[in-house]
Amino acid sequence: MTDPRTVVVVGASVAGVRTAQSLRTEGFGGRIVLVGDEPDLPYDKPPLSKQFLTGCWSVERIALLTAEAAAAAEIELRLGVAAQRLDVADRQVVLIDGSTIDYDAAVLATGAAARPAPWSPTSGVHVLRSMADARALRDDLEVDRPVVIIGGGFIGAEVAATAHALGREVTVVDPLSAPIGRVVGREVGELFVDLHTRHGVTTKFGVGVESVEGEAGDLTVQLTDGSQLAAGTVVVGIGAVPNDGWLAGSGLLVDDGVVCDEHCRAVDAADVYAVGDVLRWFHPGHGEHVRVEHWTNAVESAAVVAHNIAHPEELRSHCPVEYVWSDQYDWKIQIVGRPVGATRHTLVGDLTSAHPRGAAVYADDSGDLRGAVAVNWPKALLVCRRAVGAGASFDDVVAQLDRLSAAGAAPA
Ligand SMILES: Cc1cc2nc3c(=O)[nH]c(=O)nc-3n(C[C@H](O)[C@H](O)[C@H](O)COP(=O)(O)OP(=O)(O)OC[C@H]3O[C@@H](n4cnc5c(N)ncnc54)[C@H](O)[C@@H]3O)c2cc1C
Repeated sequence: MTDPRTVVVVGASVAGVRTAQSLRTEGFGGRIVLVGDEPDLPYDKPPLSKQFLTGCWSVERIALLTAEAAAAAEIELRLGVAAQRLDVADRQVVLIDGSTIDYDAAVLATGAAARPAPWSPTSGVHVLRSMADARALRDDLEVDRPVVIIGGGFIGAEVAATAHALGREVTVVDPLSAPIGRVVGREVGELFVDLHTRHGVTTKFGVGVESVEGEAGDLTVQLTDGSQLAAGTVVVGIGAVPNDGWLAGSGLLVDDGVVCDEHCRAVDAADVYAVGDVLRWFHPGHGEHVRVEHWTNAVESAAVVAHNIAHPEELRSHCPVEYVWSDQYDWKIQIVGRPVGATRHTLVGDLTSAHPRGAAVYADDSGDLRGAVAVNWPKALLVCRRAVGAGASFDDVVAQLDRLSAAGAAPA
């Protein structure tokens, strides 16, 4: 193995940290520098809308890498300083403080940012992407005033569940009539709408937002149907955009993420790789370039890239089966594959009972299995995940789940 002498990883969240750690487990013996613009030690993001937002989990509990662990693995931390520019010709990362780091291989792990709120009252309107965002939101959620959440996707729904658990009166607004239907199809999406209602959270779906005015504690959300909502706090969860702006001028092909080949190597620079949310790569299984904003993809792409840097003689492709989870109220939701684009589905189990447990399995016109959504049923999810990976047939999977259900498999 011929180690490049220095690998610079830009972005110190899960994809960046896992790349740095995996380089060591892959036997890479050169220098590793991990650059991050946030001042905090690396932390994990999924709890920010869940256990960290309720205050149940501490900063220590969501840590991804301690200073001691970094030192033990000989990972040099450069935190609190953003990368400003990538100089591909001279193989340098240029930092915002004017310093430069030479690299033999660079890994771009700058993730994504919350899509900014289009409304800007002086205070009280939040997005949620970083620990600083979560702390600010938590402070405002302590005030006993109604909360309006704009955007009924995963982050919006999780924050709704958390704010509700904290005792706040919550309304979720989205122009779509079943927002999560974008991912799981309209019919199953309706079950997600009912989930809010059953927990006493108001939904205003199929209605847009005209404006948000006022200040923290006293905000007015004007809706497109002419009605108004009073709120102490507004949370805007309308998606994320990849942090690729700093690469403008680098010469790399950037198109809603860093465009890479199946090995996660930038298409126009063999010594530059991307991982995690900022990666747009050629997925050999799908035959197209994709970008995925899921935690598991960040971890899996990091493992592939670390291997490919440490063992360039045996390059691996990144060909994952998509997987994402979400916790909303009493539902532990797990989604595997690509339900979106399916033309039919079958629901096994029951998602409306007092103890909901079930799975929806999706197929396309040709009967090919596309993916599955499991609720409170990890065993079913395992079956579906294996089946999607193995290219099993839709009918076989439904039959397996029927048997699992009939056998009364206890929720694991
Ligand atoms: C609130 C929340 C809840 C989530 N819940 C789930 C969940 O339940 N399940 C799931 O599968 N996924 C979930 N996700 C998504 C998951 O957390 C992301 O897919 C994952 O964090 C992506 O990791 P990443 O390292 O690629 O990017 P990020 O986590 O976005 O990290 C990128 C890092 O790079 C830094 N950075 C950006 N630009 C620069 C620069 N120029 N120089 C230096 N540093 C830079 C950023 O500040 C950040 O620290 C959630 C995300 C959020 C925000």
